[in-house]
Formats: sequence, C-alpha cells, structure tokens
Amino acid sequence: MQTTIVFISELDSNIQSQWLTLLRQQLPDEVILLSHQISDTQAKSIDIAIVANPAPKTLARFPKLIWIQSLWAGVEKLINEGLNKQVKLVRLVDPQLSKTMAEAALAWTLYLQRNMPEYAKQQANRQWKQLLPITANELSIGVLGAGTLSIAAMQTLKKFDYQVSCWSRTAKQLDGIKSYSGLTGLQSMVSKTNILINLLPLTDETYHLLDMNTLSQLPIGAKLINFSRGAVIDTQALLQLLDSEHLSHAVLDVFEHEPLAITSPLWDNPKITVLPHISAPTNRVTAVKIVAANVIEYRKNQITPDFVNIERGY
Ligand code: NAP
Repeated sequence: MQTTIVFISELDSNIQSQWLTLLRQQLPDEVILLSHQISDTQAKSIDIAIVANPAPKTLARFPKLIWIQSLWAGVEKLINEGLNKQVKLVRLVDPQLSKTMAEAALAWTLYLQRNMPEYAKQQANRQWKQLLPITANELSIGVLGAGTLSIAAMQTLKKFDYQVSCWSRTAKQLDGIKSYSGLTGLQSMVSKTNILINLLPLTDETYHLLDMNTLSQLPIGAKLINFSRGAVIDTQALLQLLDSEHLSHAVLDVFEHEPLAITSPLWDNPKITVLPHISAPTNRVTAVKIVAANVIEYRKNQITPDFVNIERGY
C-alpha cells in the first residue's frame, strides 16, 4: 500500500518541481504531495514531511507528524520559529555536502593565504608588486565547530599542511588537530589564529558570539571566513576591526539578512569578499538518495533517522 508524504517549501516553483521529480523517482512506493493537494482529513494521517525552509505554521496542518526531513543542513529557522517540539527534526547529513564545504574551506583559505584580495586591488591599479607568500605550515587555522562539515573541512586543510585547531562545545580527539572547548578554550584558540573559519550553527548561545570581545582577541592582521550563519558575527564589531586594521580581510558567505541588501556597505568594503551563500549548496542528486534511504528505513523498521536536539538548538 502506498503511503503519503507532504513536501513543503518556499522554493521557486521550478526548483520545487525538480525536487519532487527526483524524490518520486527514488521513492516509488510513496505518494509525495504538496500541502494544498492534501485534504484536511488526509492531513491528519501524515507522519513524514520533507521540507526546505517552510514557515513552521504551514506544518500545523499535519498534527500526526512523527518526523520532518529538512533538505538543508542548517535548521535554526525551523527551530526559532516555533516548531512543535513533539516532532523530530532531521537535518540533511550528506557526505557530498561535507566534501563541498571542505572544498570551500580550502578554496577561501588559499585565497587569503595567497593574497588574492591584495592582487585584485593591485591589478585594478595596474600595480606590479610581489608580496611574500606565507607557507601553509606557518598559518594557524582556527575552526569554530567540530561537527559534520567542520571535520571534513579540517581534514582537507590538514592535508595541505595548515596548522589546524578547532573549538566545540565538547572537546574532541582528532588526529593532528588541537581541540579546544569552553570560553577560555575559545580565547586560547582565537588568540593564536591567523584565519578563523566559522562553522557553528546559529543558536541562542552562538548568536553574536563573534563580538568585539572575541574578535579583538585575534592577532593583528588575522582574517575571518564565515560559512555558517551571518548572525554568529556582530557585523558592526567586524567592520570596526577591519577599519582599524586589527583584522585584514573577511570572506562572508552568509549574512544576518539574506539576500544582502543592495544598500549594504559590506558590498563596497575592499576588506570584505561578499559571497551569495554558496559555500555548500545541497546537491539534489545525492540529497534525495539520503532522504529516500531515511524514509525506506523508517517504513521498514520504524527507525527515525538521527534528529536535532531542539533544546540545544542544533
Ligand atoms: P553539526 O554537525 O551540528 O556541528 C556543529 C558543531 O558546532 C559541533 O561541533 C558543536 O559542538 C559545535 N557547537 C554548537 N554550538 C556550540 C556552542 N555553543 N559552543 C561551541 N561549539 C558549539 O553542524 P554541521 O553539519 O557541521 O553544520 C554547521 C553549520 O553550517 C550549519 O548549522 C549551517 O548553519 C551551516 N551551513 C552552511 C552552508 C552554506 O552553504 N553556507 C551549507 C550547509 C550548512 P559539539 O561537537 O560539542 O556538539
């Protein structure tokens, strides 16, 4: 007998159709429908929702949901906007996503290590000036987070000989990577870091964690890369520290409000590289296979995939 899953997103209708086609191919035993295609009576029996950033109120029509599969790795929006705490929230954990984030970590670390922002400015001024390269093993990379994406990023950076450290809620044992935890651990790591990479989820605890106090502990000339969520950084503090030349450059892939407003001063700041949230986009082909495997396992054995700790926020 076929079972029904609801798909809820705020995606552009073309992209939504592509997701539906791929999901239906991988899950032929399921009927996957949009919310408006499901009657009120039928809605009361649906146990799984597959979602891409839906407004949580749209989930209220489905009172018997057991679990929700997010197509994204970051789920703070669902948590913060009042998701029903009885429902298990499963975020996307996909080895391809980890690889893509690891590539981004390497790409933007190399961009900073090899002085690319400076060479772009020099070219604009027709200036021929060779800057001394710093070798990878002279650079301390501090990674905030030691989770799925950060571990993949750190392992890739290690292969290129960077000195890598991480900071997480709980201390870790990772080959060749120094692990820090706790607020004093954060201060110790940050004070020795040349390039700080943020991969912390946005939670009540990490909101504006990178404020004036924390960022000013970075050594003079340090650089910052933000891949996780804009609101982990206090942007005003960052701007002040770039302006005073305490920090030399920031690569920002994520912002407190996205898309970044056309009037934002960040666009024109020569010490900021603005990226449109592209460090690790979900790969539809690999993601649907993972989602399908989760659904099939649940239908067969009633085993819910690993889910987010809503109280902790990630
Ligand atoms: P994850 O596996 O849940 O790992 C989160 C890490 O952060 C864990 O190591 C955790 O510590 C640590 N952490 C959380 N709160 C902390 C706190 N208050 N203090 C210290 N450490 C804390 O997450 P992930 O899969 O690596 O993803 C990280 C984030 O990347 C997502 O939340 C999302 O925002 C972002 N993301 C961005 C993109 C993009 O394209 N820009 C794409 C995908 C994801 P413990 O290990 O001790 O629990």
